[in-house]
Amino acid sequence: MLIANNLSKSYQNIIALTNVSLSIKEGELYGLLGPNGAGKTTTINILSSLLKPDSGEILYQEKSLYQNLKECKKMIGLVPQEIALYDDLTAIENLNFWGKLYGIKGKELHSKTEELLKFLGLWDRKKDKIKTYSGGMKRRINIAAALLHDPKIVFMDEPTVGIDPQSRNLIFEVIQELHSRGLTMIYTTHYMEEAERLCDRIGIIDEGRIIAEGSLDQLKKTSKIKEEIHLNFSNTQKEDLQNFNKVFHGQLLIQENQMVLSTSQVNTDLPKLIQMCTNANLQLENLQVKSLSLESIFLELTGKSLRD
Ligand code: ADP
Repeated sequence: MLIANNLSKSYQNIIALTNVSLSIKEGELYGLLGPNGAGKTTTINILSSLLKPDSGEILYQEKSLYQNLKECKKMIGLVPQEIALYDDLTAIENLNFWGKLYGIKGKELHSKTEELLKFLGLWDRKKDKIKTYSGGMKRRINIAAALLHDPKIVFMDEPTVGIDPQSRNLIFEVIQELHSRGLTMIYTTHYMEEAERLCDRIGIIDEGRIIAEGSLDQLKKTSKIKEEIHLNFSNTQKEDLQNFNKVFHGQLLIQENQMVLSTSQVNTDLPKLIQMCTNANLQLENLQVKSLSLESIFLELTGKSLRD
């Protein structure tokens, strides 16, 4: 469906992407996972023709994007991070505006707008001005706008950032339904839980490069890490926990009263960890051994946290 070869892009002296290559199959839900500044938006903007790469090629159904721009653009829907809506217009008026930009008119536009507002759970609010909508509802209208022209592939740029959990779940349901209908999607996120939950295949991006790619199972299998030990304390200071870094260098994530150790040898690391906690007079509140997450894989690959 979509092939991108060796995309590179710099903004003046900032290198945003280096030789990013992707191959997306029809019907696939592909997740681009990486921390802020990794190059996710730049990748999506280039793939959806908003931005030109400095080098590299993009093929949609084996046709070059730039040589077949008009035809390819019809296949593409983009849900940008910035909400692209008019606050003083109603939901219907906003969708009509976008529909006309895509060349959809009359009855077709009317029925498409109705179908999408119903699909996104906003039919009851169709005549309300967008300025009365919550952040999550605006995101859903943005998704509707991207679907108006029946695209074959949809790019979603962090569609759940800054919205409440209920709206986030609604957006997940919409994405899962679109996926089950066979729509091809590329979804960017810095939340590993979203990539794990939604995506068939995940590309991990950091500092403008794709550093690993595969299904969640494939990524887990290729990792040396097997498990995570999660510890919660009732009485720690970050400085106390930092001492553990010296022993478990590069395998440890520390946040407030929590510590997560990624390990390939839980049998030896667990007793060592507990002994160190006792020696440091740390009060352990909770201890869990969990299976490997994308967060640990990211830490293993980059030496840093997804949320740094
Ligand atoms: P992400 O979406 O993963 O947060 P971006 O693609 O937005 O990452 O950014 C990648 C890098 O390019 C970052 O270092 C960012 O600061 C830089 N960048 C993005 N857009 C611009 C721009 N318009 N001008 C200059 N630098 C930019």
